[in-house]
Amino acid sequence: MFGKKKVKPLKIGLVGLGKIAVDQHIPSIRANTALELVAGCSPNARPDGVTAYDSLEEMLAAHPEIEAVAICTPPQIRHTIAKQVIAAGKHVFLEKPPAATLGEAEAIADLARTRGVTVLASWHSRYAPAVETTRQWIAGRKIKSIHVVWKENVRQWHPGQKWIFEAGGMGVFDPGINSLSILTRIVPEKVIVKKADLHIPVNCDAPIQVEMDMTTESGVAIRADYDFLQTGIQTWSIFVESEKGEKLELSMGGTGLTIDGKEIMKEKEAEYPGLYAHFEKLVRAGQSDADFSPLRIVADAMLLGKRIDAPEYIE
Ligand code: NAP
Repeated sequence: MFGKKKVKPLKIGLVGLGKIAVDQHIPSIRANTALELVAGCSPNARPDGVTAYDSLEEMLAAHPEIEAVAICTPPQIRHTIAKQVIAAGKHVFLEKPPAATLGEAEAIADLARTRGVTVLASWHSRYAPAVETTRQWIAGRKIKSIHVVWKENVRQWHPGQKWIFEAGGMGVFDPGINSLSILTRIVPEKVIVKKADLHIPVNCDAPIQVEMDMTTESGVAIRADYDFLQTGIQTWSIFVESEKGEKLELSMGGTGLTIDGKEIMKEKEAEYPGLYAHFEKLVRAGQSDADFSPLRIVADAMLLGKRIDAPEYIE
């Protein structure tokens, strides 16, 4: 009789029913009793068990009860879709990167504020299990240097995703921005880009390899090496060295942690359940979370980076 009043699940619609929607969004929403997946829309994709429509307009017309929309499309169309979602008075969950440009991302956040809806600029890698321990380790030390090594095979992980090498697709920064979302979480200061070499295939608009030098405001050197042509062992690691010579490696995108050669953590990836729990809390509290600092680093790299021709990319 005195039990807690049951809160109705937050009703969610998905836009873009491609790889990330199927791999993560659909199962994470279904596993959370505080959320309900009402429907999705996508021009072609029709995942099993999801009521799907061709367009956002059709989905919202058929399901006015939808309260929040997660936008899982390529980044180039995120701004246009977010504007429609916000205009309809729905809360908005933005897949990473939040938009194709910083200007678009900021416009989305402004619109959401004006309309009084929640916006989440989601950074799934920040929910990797070893990120928080790494942040605390850094907070307790003077840091000498940081080295980000993010090397994967685009042909293995992104088959058929033409958008990734088109303008706004960000090329190797599509996975690289995950490392930047971790970096901007674990480093307690602003991170500033100093130099970037952007290797862009002659038939593409976005880089396939990037070498980038950054610094913190207090002068800690940060190096990042991104490679989309890595065959064999794939690497998603951040190496941190303290001034005393202690060494930390955050590996496998944040699921592994080694300190001074000793394995501290090796966990399964489980980022999206945490991300959705965060989104639900934000909506209930009437708040937003729109941190664009990882996107700002990519934008700065594109601003001052040197463009170097790379061989034609053939999938
Ligand atoms: P994807 O497999 O290419 O899926 C994108 C989907 O968006 C496609 O199914 C496509 O539709 C749909 N779409 C295109 N235009 C649309 C529109 N106007 N309205 C509705 N849907 C539209 O790409 P993805 O890998 O899922 O990536 C999507 C986003 O998630 C990217 O920003 C990426 O960085 C991010 N992300 C991806 C991963 C990953 O592991 N793949 C991980 C984390 C984050 P049709 O197929 O129906 O034509």
